[in-house]
Amino acid sequence: MSSDPLAYLDAELNQLKERGVFRGLRVLDGEQRAHATFDGRSVVNLSSNNYLGLTTHPHLRKKAIEATEKYGVGSGAVRTIAGTMELHVELERRLAAFKKTEATVVFQSGFTANAGTVAALLGKEDTIVSDELNHASIIDGARLSRATIKVFPHRDVDAARTILEALPKGGRTLLISDGVFSMDGDLGALPGLCALRDEFGCIMMVDDAHASGVFGAEGRGTIDHFGLHGRVDVQVGTLSKAIGVLGGYVAGTSTLITFLHQRARPFLFSTSHPPAVTAACIAAIDVLESEPEWMRQLWENTRFFKEGLTALGFDTGQSDSPITPVMVGDAAKAMRFSDRLFEEGVFALGIGFPTVPQGRARLRTIVTATHTKDELTFALDRFAHVGRELNLLPG
Ligand code: PMP
Repeated sequence: MSSDPLAYLDAELNQLKERGVFRGLRVLDGEQRAHATFDGRSVVNLSSNNYLGLTTHPHLRKKAIEATEKYGVGSGAVRTIAGTMELHVELERRLAAFKKTEATVVFQSGFTANAGTVAALLGKEDTIVSDELNHASIIDGARLSRATIKVFPHRDVDAARTILEALPKGGRTLLISDGVFSMDGDLGALPGLCALRDEFGCIMMVDDAHASGVFGAEGRGTIDHFGLHGRVDVQVGTLSKAIGVLGGYVAGTSTLITFLHQRARPFLFSTSHPPAVTAACIAAIDVLESEPEWMRQLWENTRFFKEGLTALGFDTGQSDSPITPVMVGDAAKAMRFSDRLFEEGVFALGIGFPTVPQGRARLRTIVTATHTKDELTFALDRFAHVGRELNLLPG
């Protein structure tokens, strides 16, 4: 009898368990809301990216149902064959107007938007200069492009400059940063990087996954927040977080978007969104434009919760966004903290290596516009209780 060729996977999984960093999947029973039921337990949910509560917004729900009734459940093909529906074109038009760019192209996810675009724009002769904490989808796109990858320390514009100065002439250079960093909640050093873009003639790309619907006027993102319109050549956004649905997009010039239609592999080789998804995304833009109260409430809740955590004595890092890390250090301890909070009725994800650097394990909390003050106060109270129990706070 031949041995199981996948036996090594058991060994690797056991190692994760021994290190205390193995994660099972929590199962959501019901809707994705600020207070939700996971694994049969009712918890204050500090782990979703549903910043504005749009996953269950009545306007989005209605439009998704109407689109399903009118157009069916699937698009039936990739965009470049028979899978471009009127709805897809309408969403791209709405997104371009929203982002104040000539054009946009929608991908199946933020991940494929990043990976597909970086891989399409750069080749073997080129260089990618990337913040060390950029998202995995940027790293994967960079690897797929076969360009030379140079990494600068987090938010360090001077170090990026030193890299650019040392590059040989010829070949294109892509300078790339997240707009909001997903594990720390701080903002990319965009003004400084845009100055380098102007000086060195690089292509500037920003992944604004966590900023769309959160930063800038009506949620236009960090480019709007910093007043950098026209200086970021490639803007990526996601439709899966504040927009509440699914997908990613690239915003830029018409030439960029037409090029991506021809060369971005996820666009060319993977089926487009179903009508319900696209119609719900269009409806989300309606809501961003007509219901500014959600963003206002998001920021009020963010301030309240951050101040509460800091007052308790937790180290919350350098966050400037609704993502607030609670630094723990040791990965096994962060996982224990997360598990105990869950038992106490609060869902805050524990995150360790390799998602964050060794020794920088943390809980990641994300408040949304739809959390009530009572829910946030309850969560703070449980953080205090479990924090003391695990000696993360003075008794
Ligand atoms: N970029 C960043 C910074 C992200 O945090 C994420 C989601 N984890 C993505 C891109 C990918 O977006 P999506 O979930 O839409 O694939």
